[in-house]
Amino acid sequence: MGPSFKGGVATPHHKKATEHLAIERAPVPERLVIPMSQHLGAPCEPLVAKGDRVERGQLVGDVEAFISAPVHSAVAGTVVEITDTLTPAGSRSRAVVIEPNESQELERFVAVPEEEDRVARVRAAGVVGMGGAMFPSSVKLKPPREFTLETVIVNGCECEPFLTCDHRTMVELPERVTAGARLVADITGASRVVIGVEDNKPDAVEALRTQAGSDIEVMALKTKYPQGAEKQLIMAVAGKEVPKGQLPAATGALVHNVGTVAAIADAVERGRPLIERVVTVTGAVRRPGNYLAVVGTSIADLVEHAGGLHDDVEVVFAGGPMTGFALASLDVPVVKGTSGVVALRAGETRPEVGEDQPCIRCGRCPEACPIFLQPFAIASHADADDWDGAHHYHALDCIECGACSFVCPTRRPLLQLIRVAKHALLDRGERP
Ligand code: SF4
Ligand code: SF4
Repeated sequence: MGPSFKGGVATPHHKKATEHLAIERAPVPERLVIPMSQHLGAPCEPLVAKGDRVERGQLVGDVEAFISAPVHSAVAGTVVEITDTLTPAGSRSRAVVIEPNESQELERFVAVPEEEDRVARVRAAGVVGMGGAMFPSSVKLKPPREFTLETVIVNGCECEPFLTCDHRTMVELPERVTAGARLVADITGASRVVIGVEDNKPDAVEALRTQAGSDIEVMALKTKYPQGAEKQLIMAVAGKEVPKGQLPAATGALVHNVGTVAAIADAVERGRPLIERVVTVTGAVRRPGNYLAVVGTSIADLVEHAGGLHDDVEVVFAGGPMTGFALASLDVPVVKGTSGVVALRAGETRPEVGEDQPCIRCGRCPEACPIFLQPFAIASHADADDWDGAHHYHALDCIECGACSFVCPTRRPLLQLIRVAKHALLDRGERP
């Protein structure tokens, strides 16, 4: 049994349907909706107008803010509209709508400009955290000067149930993952490189070990939710706790997801912008798979390519069922952080979807919380719009893993309530 962290829960994996299915390219849709906000930070401004012709890989949106990432067209085609769209997370964003040309040469793309500085190239390629957080990778590669980075941790845990896109990336593209890991270490000056993989993916561990030389450690970690959360992974791999209110870099460790390091390698070595990604489409769909989709493909198109939904589907998540977002409509685009589309039937939903009952003070949620919060207390203050109370119980430290919701016997919508409190606190200027 590999190393791990304290707390957490044993969730059912539900990965069998797709874990052995090779990555398959999804068709280019008839229309792409490319949101200008696919990253944490300032949204981009469209750089094209209705009627413009664009190439695959061409820059279509950018902004001059430090925390930002440009966006590119994933196809050759014509801009037909600049509009507003809903994103999978439920927020609104400006978007460039593109109708692709009839024929596409998908092996070709407009390369990002040659830059001396590799971090500038990562930014020009629009690389963001592909595990879901969508934090601009170029910013993460330049942590504040006061931190000395010692360890690069590549996150191959994929602890979220149902998802297998990272698993397949590690099995099928281990050279891209190790190349990206080495680049990140070289750029940041870190001397140790560890790829952490949950021990329920032995084929991924083997594929990576075949590629990794003596400079990269491939570590099999205990399979436990949320092993892939940044702070928990640093504890498991480096044995260090992120000090309260500080950046993970304060421990000397930097965590990047496997898909992200592969995208960094593609950006630096091949000038390739981030314009497509692997999305696991699974659960109650007729043809589950790991589909390589161009960014901007609607989730409805992707689900249709996966054979459509079964009739008794109750909820569809963008991302996994623990941390993902329940979709009000499938008419939202795949973005750079869309790791999965998971359709669940009644009774399969995560505990918080359904009738909830009052808290019975069973004590399970604080036991499950990997960062020792009291989720029931934060949630009850959030329920009463008492943001001071939620702040007192450290709502802003919550990493949104959903373990508390998962274990609650009365189906309290804990994560949902805590997210509301966090947004309210951040809106009024509070910081963790
Ligand atoms: S309170 Fe936050 S960090 Fe703790 S279990 Fe719940 S979602 Fe996870
Ligand atoms: S798990 Fe649910 S019922 Fe138990 S203490 Fe937490 S909120 Fe209350």
